[in-house]
Amino acid sequence: MENRRNDALLIMEKLKEKYPKAKCELNFNNTFQLLIATILSAQTTDKKVNEVTEDLFKKYKTPEDFLTLTQSELEEKIKKIGLYRNKAKNILDMCRILVEKFNGEVPKNMDDLISLPGVGRKTANVVLSNGFGIPAIAVDTHVFRVANRIGLANSDNVLETEKQLMSILPKYMWSLAHHLLIWHGRRICEARKPKCEICPLTSECYFFNDKNA
Ligand code: SF4
Repeated sequence: MENRRNDALLIMEKLKEKYPKAKCELNFNNTFQLLIATILSAQTTDKKVNEVTEDLFKKYKTPEDFLTLTQSELEEKIKKIGLYRNKAKNILDMCRILVEKFNGEVPKNMDDLISLPGVGRKTANVVLSNGFGIPAIAVDTHVFRVANRIGLANSDNVLETEKQLMSILPKYMWSLAHHLLIWHGRRICEARKPKCEICPLTSECYFFNDKNA
């Protein structure tokens, strides 16, 4: 295990070198907008979300602002995004709860966040780390795939992958590791065809070494 911890640090160093600018690729001006953007990003690219929120966030900055919209008005504004009907409903339900129960503020803890409509553990972790600076590893499809390919985790479910990553990586690295693994998954370790020939992690990656054994 200790060896693998050292490998994990080396892997993070290599990824930091490869992606020195790795960060959240969603645009937002406050934690509430980050929460909205993250909900919108499910099964959609961050690029598409940013296109939609560019106008939306100029006018709607708080839960109260969103509650001036009817569901069909919000649907109209986000209709370029997948699952927009469901997302519009969840967003408005969530805004009502934020106003009624949380004084219009985004709660700063996992339990309250995942009690909100449309907010799962991944979204909550994104908000905790990028919005509040609390160390967390949000495991999305990229983090899940890349971490399990490299061998930083070995699991077929996201919660276990999150726990294994938290155990193998020092806490101060959790949030950055999330970004680095996403960037690597989007740019090189792609789902269908990982570009191993240009990857800096071939020496450490279990998937690559099993394939080439
Ligand atoms: S060597 Fe291939 S499978 Fe392993 S992390 Fe790199 S791109 Fe992904």
